[in-house]
Amino acid sequence: MSKEPAIINIFANEDKFSTNTAQLLKRKLEQSGFAVPDTFDPQAELIVCVGGDGSFLKTLQELRFPDIPFVGINTRHLGFFQELQPDKLDEFIFNYRQGKYTVQELKTVGAVVRDKDAVYEYTALNEIMIKGDESRPIHLNLSIGDNFIERFSGDGVLIATPAGSTAYNYSLGGSIVDPRLSLLQVTPIAPMNTTAYRCFTSSIVLPADLSVHVVPEFEIERGVRIVVDGIEHHHGPVQEIAAKISPFIVKLIRFENYDFWTKVKSKFL
Ligand code: NAP
Repeated sequence: MSKEPAIINIFANEDKFSTNTAQLLKRKLEQSGFAVPDTFDPQAELIVCVGGDGSFLKTLQELRFPDIPFVGINTRHLGFFQELQPDKLDEFIFNYRQGKYTVQELKTVGAVVRDKDAVYEYTALNEIMIKGDESRPIHLNLSIGDNFIERFSGDGVLIATPAGSTAYNYSLGGSIVDPRLSLLQVTPIAPMNTTAYRCFTSSIVLPADLSVHVVPEFEIERGVRIVVDGIEHHHGPVQEIAAKISPFIVKLIRFENYDFWTKVKSKFL
């Protein structure tokens, strides 16, 4: 009986160069004996994502963090998660078939948002951000574990994973964290520090077993924006948001010359 071909899914952003690269890769993979369906197949052994980090994050959200390894082909973007250059497709197929790669496991952050009617759950690879729904300061009662820490006043807070530490977190003055560490970073967004309001101005770093609890204060019926890897979700008055490291792990294929700190140096310095 003949063996079924291994399945590889390909996703590409709408950019012409990305779609052309995806079509070329599909042809090359099929010539090498792989099956490449036109729609997502959960039996796939690999998902290829063609585009930038943003396209990769959107694919993760759309597929709801499947337990299938990903590899990214970077088409003219920053490409922090994206491993391969589009002119290296043959090399990629050769190395993949030979098993010449490692799998990097990235932690994710999860949040449970509770309002008076319902409970919503979110997962992110980079970060979950809590902001006001209007361009006015938001007041958030922040606890870590069971300990009340502060009444934060400002634009909001961002809860970043190590993988997300190089994204929005870094622009806000947060620290770059090696993704081998298991922690969360709570970074303030424009914290107010006056005689009327006092709050931390630096990031707070938490171990994996602690969660962050946020209780917003509302003077009038105003809402909260929860931004999950750049995707906005609008809520009315929220009673509580609880965030912690989530059980979902994102697996990324890396080839032999991958090193996190070399990547940081090449993308930021
Ligand atoms: P976008 O506004 O189109 O892209 C934001 C930039 O962040 C892109 O250059 C993207 O890389 C890069 N990026 C994403 N994840 C990264 C990571 N882990 N490390 C380093 N850089 C990373 O938004 P998007 O494409 O939808 O991506 C959503 C992400 O953008 C959010 O998760 C947030 O972290 C980030 N963001 C950053 C800022 C800021 O720094 N001020 C503001 C808003 C959002 P590519 O070019 O490869 O796509």
